[in-house]
Amino acid sequence: MISFYPGPSKLYPQLEQYLTDAYRSGLLSVNHRSPAFMQLLEQTVARLRHKLAIPADYEIYFTSSATECWEVVAQSLVARRSGHLYNGAFGQKWQEYTGRLVPEAVGLEFGLNELPSAGRVAERLEGAEVLCLTHSETSNGTMLPMAWLSELRQQTDQLLAVDATSSMAGVELDWPAADVWYASVQKCFGLPAGLGVLVVAPRAVERARQLNERRHYNSLLYLRDNFLKYQSPHTPNTLGLYLLGRVMEQVPPIADVAARTEARAADWYAFLEAEGYQPLVAEPAVRSATVVAVATEPAPLKSLKEAALAAGLVLGNGYGSWKDSTFRIANFPALTDAEIDALRTFLRTHRPRC
Ligand SMILES: *Cc1c(COP(=O)(O)O)cnc(C)c1O
Repeated sequence: MISFYPGPSKLYPQLEQYLTDAYRSGLLSVNHRSPAFMQLLEQTVARLRHKLAIPADYEIYFTSSATECWEVVAQSLVARRSGHLYNGAFGQKWQEYTGRLVPEAVGLEFGLNELPSAGRVAERLEGAEVLCLTHSETSNGTMLPMAWLSELRQQTDQLLAVDATSSMAGVELDWPAADVWYASVQKCFGLPAGLGVLVVAPRAVERARQLNERRHYNSLLYLRDNFLKYQSPHTPNTLGLYLLGRVMEQVPPIADVAARTEARAADWYAFLEAEGYQPLVAEPAVRSATVVAVATEPAPLKSLKEAALAAGLVLGNGYGSWKDSTFRIANFPALTDAEIDALRTFLRTHRPRC
């Protein structure tokens, strides 16, 4: 089976060896305050910073998931009001989760094919302490261009927090354009789930210090105290950290990975249009480079997915309100050209006729 599911997604094949290596290393039984663990964590952070080109003054902590990062931002960076710009299910959920933790989580919804004016967003969400944005909206295959994000950066002094769960490690992120970035590893990192990567700018640390929120096991300042010592507030996912370190050692620098991701994305959209498929997102400027959503009628969709499974290909289901009328194709780095060709061959011969 080849999985094109946009998370959990296809693993790097090297994982089979890395899992054995992890077992044999003895690291999975060491105490998480021991020098051996601290060394592993230090090395993992260093490789991640190097390969993803994360600026030296941005700190890197680990959580269990992206969902946990939603709560970390809410509890530790917002006293009164957060602002959420969204056009799909993940961005909307982030608002919902935050709304349970802070007095006011204000939402601003925008359309699927729309890129809202940065100035208007800053104005509409004025008074929010943190602006919460979803870089790649995995549910519908849209993406906020980095140039748009830096434009927003110039329009406002508010902290910017970006959910990059399905784009980090797949495309280049303009780190200085936001103060908090996070992802989980079961998307572009090609790893099994169970680890979240949280990248925090000095400005966000400063804000956390002002609020001094320390009521949770995962309060940002408490995470920071631990991770700066290469420790963890609770017994961590040592296996996940080990695997992340090995994968970061193996992958090319992010600029090279991104060039390939973007070329492949362009090929995907061109292929789909040439073969009579309809990308869900019509506007090229806001199409995601890492998650490709395709619009279909519900009936042919069902048989297409069944035929794909029979051919050993797993398509991503639609998500949220697009559940029955779209399928999704992960364009993640762990997929090979041969696997992509296999899916194209399948799609070429199973074109829905409607
Ligand atoms: C997958 C995903 C999440 C949730 O990730 P978890 O690891 O399950 O917490 C959040 N946001 C986006 C954009 C995602 O793609």
